[in-house]
Amino acid sequence: MRIDIITLFPEMCEAVMSESIIGRARKKGAIEVNCHQLRDFAFDKHKRVDDTTYGGGMGMLMMAEPIALCYEDICAKTGCRPHFIYMSPKGKILTQARLRELSQLENIAVLCGHYEGVDQRLIDTYIDEEISIGDYVLTGGELPALVFADSLSRLVPGVLSDDSCFSEESHFDGLLEYPQYTKPAVWRGMEVPEVLLSGHHANIERWRHEKALEETLRRRPDMLSELEMSKKDIEYIEGIK
Ligand code: SAM
Repeated sequence: MRIDIITLFPEMCEAVMSESIIGRARKKGAIEVNCHQLRDFAFDKHKRVDDTTYGGGMGMLMMAEPIALCYEDICAKTGCRPHFIYMSPKGKILTQARLRELSQLENIAVLCGHYEGVDQRLIDTYIDEEISIGDYVLTGGELPALVFADSLSRLVPGVLSDDSCFSEESHFDGLLEYPQYTKPAVWRGMEVPEVLLSGHHANIERWRHEKALEETLRRRPDMLSELEMSKKDIEYIEGIK
């Protein structure tokens, strides 16, 4: 997968996307990430990319033309029209399910807004999807774009060491993850649940599934109502309510 991030702060995005798991995945070629400086596509000598809003108001708005030119440059370089996402508090809230769908795409471009946002005509003409990372407002789209690019990248084959790294995690199958423990087996008098030391894989798997049901019931009962559960799971839930 190739991700192109359009931003006024490419160094900020580049720094985050160069670290740890994502940084290593980029080095070994499992994903490609390019951070583009929007000002390079400004058409005046001051490299301006924003202006005042029509109708009045305090803030500045990002102009359509530099964004269009930057996206078209990405299209020319990739030879396709990448799915173009605008990070926006007005967008649909990002979910693991949507990330799974988007992880099937080869090319994605992400626009980071700033100031008051972006001229609506650019959104209407170019943007395929608006995504929000939650019902609150940040100063810019860089952190949302990085949240998006990180959570998307880890679903791309070859980024994590094994698919089970994400397929057993919270939200993958509509449940929150079961509790986990590491060494030592007794810490400050607290023991690891015995079943995890038993080596009995079927029992461990059942225990983990039941704990995942329990965690979800306790913390996010709304998720359970959307889940297709087996008869056994329904009985288990009824038993612990
Ligand atoms: N005036 C806009 C509004 O009221 O909807 C908010 C603009 S915000 C200050 C600046 C930029 O930050 C936005 O263009 C967007 O790219 C980004 N942003 C802020 N909050 C966000 C969120 N919850 N999810 C995704 N992007 C967000």
